[in-house]
Amino acid sequence: MGKQILVVDDSATMRQMVSFTLTSAGFEVVEAGDGQEAVGKLNAGAKPNLVITDLNMPKMDGITFIKAVRAMPTFKFTPVLMLTTESDESKKKEGQAAGATGWIVKPFNPEQMLKVIAKVMP
Ligand SMILES: [Mg+2]
Repeated sequence: MGKQILVVDDSATMRQMVSFTLTSAGFEVVEAGDGQEAVGKLNAGAKPNLVITDLNMPKMDGITFIKAVRAMPTFKFTPVLMLTTESDESKKKEGQAAGATGWIVKPFNPEQMLKVIAKVMP
């Protein structure tokens, strides 16, 4: 069975682009439109090997979502990558403090994204 990745972003276009890159590389993708929906999917039994999350989202933002993931014993050590813009150093730091493993720069480059995933995927 392929490894599963949870993709969380409020932009349907971004989710589509990320999902396309991941499924093309052989990953199974679960999508959520915000942190709250993503937490719901984790509580409902999704078992991603890795999480990719946007930071600016309605209902529950990425930082709050990362903290929620880290508070779940099952996902305490699951790699979490945040989608962030190159210039946003403060958000990167905030995300890392919340428990993020690393980041992917937006607009993302598919090859680079897969490289970062390969580095942290258990
Ligand atoms: Mg967003």
